[in-house]
Amino acid sequence: MSKIQMTTPLVEMDGDEMTRILWQMIKDDLLLPFIDLKTEYYDLGLKHRDETDDQVTKDSANATLKYGVAVKCATITPNAARVEEYNLKEMWKSPNGTIRAMLDGTVFRAPIVVKGIEPCVRNWEAPITLARHAYGDVYKNTEMKIDGPGKAEIVFTADDGSVSRATIHNFDGPGVIQGMHNLDRSIDSFARACFNFALDTKQDLWFATKDTISKKYDHNFKDIFQEIFDAEYKDKFEAAGITYFYTLIDDAVARVMKSKGGFIWACKNYDGDVMSDMVSSAFGSLAMMTSVLVSPSGVYEYEAAHGTVQRHYYKHLKGEETSTNSVATIFAWTGALRKRGELDGNKELMEFADKLEKATLSTIESGKMTKDLALITSLKDVTVLNSEQFIKAIRESLEKELA
Ligand code: NAP
Ligand code: MG
Repeated sequence: MSKIQMTTPLVEMDGDEMTRILWQMIKDDLLLPFIDLKTEYYDLGLKHRDETDDQVTKDSANATLKYGVAVKCATITPNAARVEEYNLKEMWKSPNGTIRAMLDGTVFRAPIVVKGIEPCVRNWEAPITLARHAYGDVYKNTEMKIDGPGKAEIVFTADDGSVSRATIHNFDGPGVIQGMHNLDRSIDSFARACFNFALDTKQDLWFATKDTISKKYDHNFKDIFQEIFDAEYKDKFEAAGITYFYTLIDDAVARVMKSKGGFIWACKNYDGDVMSDMVSSAFGSLAMMTSVLVSPSGVYEYEAAHGTVQRHYYKHLKGEETSTNSVATIFAWTGALRKRGELDGNKELMEFADKLEKATLSTIESGKMTKDLALITSLKDVTVLNSEQFIKAIRESLEKELA
């Protein structure tokens, strides 16, 4: 069988610990035998980040801007313990934070739905994709404790010296105040990323804030979304047969619980933080969750939502058997390969991505899975496989798919 050819390289960002081990297995067993894989390789493993003074992370983000599609392995975000463990020159910043800032993107997270791993919410038939705005609000706030009676104000001094002020509260005793902000520029690119992703995946888009209470702040989010939608996306949504739906956040929560799923839920920063944990745990497991960073200019970076699975890696180093779930990492690859295929008009590559996903899901549905899934599945008579056996089992299903 001749291998599938690629025209443009994918940006490949290698990572750390157990996911780095899975990364190599996935390439060796599921990709390289079938694809003449073209990648521009960047080693974001912590050791190499340290050797290059983290330049490799910036280089990989620049390559992503150049080629348009990247696939990333989970990486260690160093803390004090890691600085010691790896004898680091510095406590390097989170690679995801660096890449996100350079790509100016929005993160979309979607559960991988498979028979036998049922969501806790019975009526959720299709995945709910969460789009979280990752700038500002309470994450960049200024707070103050008020010790006693007095007047709290918001003061804005414009560059021309003019001053606007508003009273927050006339305190008659102790209390607290908080100031926060957001930027039209950031809300604008959040909105565009959401509209583009909805068109891309042909799913309805929901967005919600508390604009009835927050008549200026949250209303600004609502207005910016609506203006951009009316001016640039209305016709495209109609043509694609999808809708943009705005409602209040409490109404959205109630509707989400009653829904069948199958849409994108765009959330402000705090709502997205809270709701993504709710949605992901209700769907089963972090190891069954994909994550893609989409920039407003249409650049894509695919990864798994989980970390480097450190505990399993230490077992692996001791020569003990691990049963680490590679599904989210496989889906990071298939997402990237499909997008590359789409951009290059490479149908064969897109079909391969579909088949690899199908093979992965059918392996689980046939009762072969890793330990994390075996603990929560509703299937009977399951076989628990180790990390390597699971990938080999997917290889068998894939060969049948491709035959
Ligand atoms: P983690 O890697 O997400 O793993 C936490 C626990 O979740 C694991 O110990 C395991 O539970 C379970 N788990 C996660 N993924 C799994 C998988 N694929 N298969 C089976 N079980 C899985 O988080 P962590 O151990 O707290 O963090 C390790 C490193 O990852 C940290 O250095 C952190 O900086 C980094 N991190 C990176 C990213 C990223 O690159 N996107 C994201 C988050 C964290 P059991 O131990 O109970 O089996
Ligand atoms: Mg959180």
